[in-house]
Amino acid sequence: MFSNWCWHEPFQVLIDAGEGLQLALGQKIWAPEVVALTHGHSDHVLGLPGFIASRRFAKGAQDKALTVVFPDGNNGVLAVRELLARMWPAAEFPITWAPLRPGGEFRIGRTRVLLAFATSHGGSEPTQGYAVLEERRRLKSEYAGLSEAEICARVREHGRDALMEPYRHVRFAHTGDAMPIDPSLVAGADILVHDATFLETEDRKWDIHATTVEALDVGRAAGVHCLVLHHLSIRYDRAAALPALRAQVAGSGFEGECWLLDDGRLINLR
Ligand SMILES: [Zn+2]
Repeated sequence: MFSNWCWHEPFQVLIDAGEGLQLALGQKIWAPEVVALTHGHSDHVLGLPGFIASRRFAKGAQDKALTVVFPDGNNGVLAVRELLARMWPAAEFPITWAPLRPGGEFRIGRTRVLLAFATSHGGSEPTQGYAVLEERRRLKSEYAGLSEAEICARVREHGRDALMEPYRHVRFAHTGDAMPIDPSLVAGADILVHDATFLETEDRKWDIHATTVEALDVGRAAGVHCLVLHHLSIRYDRAAALPALRAQVAGSGFEGECWLLDDGRLINLR
């Protein structure tokens, strides 16, 4: 019921911080190193004060640093930041607030960055999604046709680095609340969590959320390996919606794994 967040445990990244976050995480509240807020709507940020207060005042790793990445200038986020400052003026929370604009990056570890990308979610406030990009190296395409022996000869002559080029692979991406995103932002992603609020376009009054079919189209066009649909409207009775959604997935042409993130559970849609 109107509380959104997504905990990516391997990268220790939280996307958004809806109400009840610290209760759901339990002892894991000290694990996240980064909270990336997609926008300042109440169902995405009101869990932040409780989460941060629990980290500060409960028994555990109270000094552990936390960075809150957010859309630069977003008033909902700035209001929460001010609430924390006024509620606990004497408390020293080990928080770094990191405003980002679309295209901006925040490094998370030695080989990964969190990239912000613009999303369309109505209103005048800035909103954005995030992609975790992993920096990798591969053989330059001009050498792709060479045999192993030829490649070895060139490595001996020019050194390994001359044959390799860096590239970035999308390990994980999250749209937050959004209309369908540009698939090129998440090409080849391992995991994409995409807004999928409406089962039918006719149910959408304002262009601020995607439909399930639109999310599947993004997944197909981007060649995503695992698509996670989230934010399915509570107007839909789940017993009726799940078969309809599974039929959409089956007929979508999207061939990867497909899950629904719903009420704290992942439901396989295959
Ligand atoms: Zn929203």
